[in-house]
Amino acid sequence: MPLRIGLVGIGKIARDQHIPALVANPQFELVACASRSAKVKGVDNFIDLESMLAAVPQLDCISICTPPQAHFDAALLALRAGKHVMLEKPPAATVRQIQLLAEEAARRHRTLFQSWHSRYAAAVDRAKEWMHDRTLVRGHISWKEDVQAWHPGQQWIWEPGGFGVFDPGINALSVLTRVLSAEVCVSEATLEFPQNQQAPIAAQLRLRTTKGVDIDAEFDFRQEGEQSWDISLATTTGMLKLSNGGGTLEIDGRTLHGDASLAGEYPRLYQRFAELCTRGESDVDVRPFQLVADAFLVGERVIVAPHHI
Ligand code: NAP
Repeated sequence: MPLRIGLVGIGKIARDQHIPALVANPQFELVACASRSAKVKGVDNFIDLESMLAAVPQLDCISICTPPQAHFDAALLALRAGKHVMLEKPPAATVRQIQLLAEEAARRHRTLFQSWHSRYAAAVDRAKEWMHDRTLVRGHISWKEDVQAWHPGQQWIWEPGGFGVFDPGINALSVLTRVLSAEVCVSEATLEFPQNQQAPIAAQLRLRTTKGVDIDAEFDFRQEGEQSWDISLATTTGMLKLSNGGGTLEIDGRTLHGDASLAGEYPRLYQRFAELCTRGESDVDVRPFQLVADAFLVGERVIVAPHHI
């Protein structure tokens, strides 16, 4: 019998990825949606999660696609109602919140899948395998996109807890922490805040592995023309480049795996969620989130030109 699922927060990612992935996956039945202003055809629609849980108590799980500021309250409500929960990235507005959600899930023997969709990009597992027994000497991340093109009208991204350029940047950190066998921490950061906004439009980080290797990261929301979602890792025995957000893998300039689309990420995410629910396990890895929080803690703050949405 499929898992009966309710979706919360019907915006861009719910429509582009979650709904198509759920409709195509026989392990799930999309039963209900909760959103203040949007409705989805063919399912029961509610204004909020509370009314959805009251009206459809037979739901097995809830997937939360709202911006991070709204994750904690919704996830806590769903777990307390006995549901398994899948969370979009970034996992929450604060680091403590995700820890509390993990504890709540464990106490109630429910699944919490704190997802990182970029880890499910087509070439990420292969990159991890290749890096496994190699020695890293230097790394570079270039994650630069045009915010007007990818986040049109999204005011929440500029508000406190909205992450600014770290909304996409945390994807790069999720891939890096998956691919590397050594742990990394933030040693320096510069965050550029538009004069009229509460979240950074650009950031430069220096990450250092526990073996003392530096990885520089550049995140920028002001990129016009060619966009970049690239991670380059130089090792003593070759050079790896992951591009297209983890879809394309090149080793020493030769393409081993190429997929510019993100088509497989969300089907694989829901397959993983179904497995976790069936096994009664959770999957929570807060390291990318900790790196972003640490960049805010140690980062030098620079005020730059206003950004108008
Ligand atoms: P979005 O288009 O703004 O949609 C989010 C929806 O959540 C809104 O339409 C809104 O619907 C609802 N919502 C509930 N509480 C909200 C609040 N406090 N502020 C604003 N909206 C609220 O955003 P999105 O692009 O789908 O992103 C949602 C999450 O998915 C983010 O965490 C983002 O990082 C992640 N994500 C996005 C993408 C992408 O390509 N867009 C890719 C991967 C992951 P109602 O007003 O109807 O309630």
